[in-house]
This record gives sequence, structure tokens and C-alpha cells, in this order.
Amino acid sequence: MYSGSCLCGKVTFMVRGPLAPIEICHCRQCQKAQGTPFATNIPVHESAFVLNSGADVLKFYASSLDKKRYFCGQCGAPVYSSRDSVPGILRIRAGLINEAIPVRPARHAYVASKCVWWEIHDDLPRSEQAWS
Ligand SMILES: [Zn+2]
Ligand SMILES: [Zn+2]
Repeated sequence: MYSGSCLCGKVTFMVRGPLAPIEICHCRQCQKAQGTPFATNIPVHESAFVLNSGADVLKFYASSLDKKRYFCGQCGAPVYSSRDSVPGILRIRAGLINEAIPVRPARHAYVASKCVWWEIHDDLPRSEQAWS
């Protein structure tokens, strides 16, 4: 069992393990949503996710017809995203988890739009677009 929270602490959650590996997303939407060169996401089945607090401040922005990006309405921290076309899967932002998690990055997605000032220094698999 892992715990996580947003920056202000209003949104808190638990994730039942084991965790899937971290996926690094270099798409432009993630860059804009996080303010960083990429997002680090852990796909979690919604049955393994428990929102303990913050349902009243958890908001979403529909960044496409298919995708909703959930964030804390008080501090603005991104929390997770979901796709209507991938039902039941929440992509938790890995940096929110409190514990020293055992999983590591496994692959890069959307490297076609990778930030020009950030070099990838690993040999993990890369996809120009999404991983199916
Ligand atoms: Zn917050
Ligand atoms: Zn992305």
C-alpha cells in the first residue's frame, strides 16, 4: 500500500500495490500541464486507487475529447489523468507518492515532441508516439 498527496495536502490517496513501472511521457500536453520536460506516470487500475480526501477540490481539465487531467483545485498540482478509451486506468503522477517506491522508469513515449533542452541518458525503449 502506498500513499500520496498533492502539494497542499488537500488531495490524499492510497494505491494498493504492486505498482506498474513508470512511464515517461514527452508529449506537449504533459509538458504544458506539468511545466516540466516530461511527465512521470504510473498506470493504476481504479480498483487499486482510493481517494482519501479532497474530492471537493479535485477538478479536471479535458485536454482532448478522450482525456481528462485531474488536478488539485487549491494548489494546482496534477494528480492523475484518464482516457475514456482506456476505461478503468488512472495514470498517477509518480512524484505525488510519499514512499520510496520500488518501481523505476520503463519507457519513453512521444519522444517526437521531446523538449529540445532535455537529453535522454538511458537505453529504455522509446516510442515516437503513444505506446498502445
Ligand atoms: Zn492541493
Ligand atoms: Zn503526455
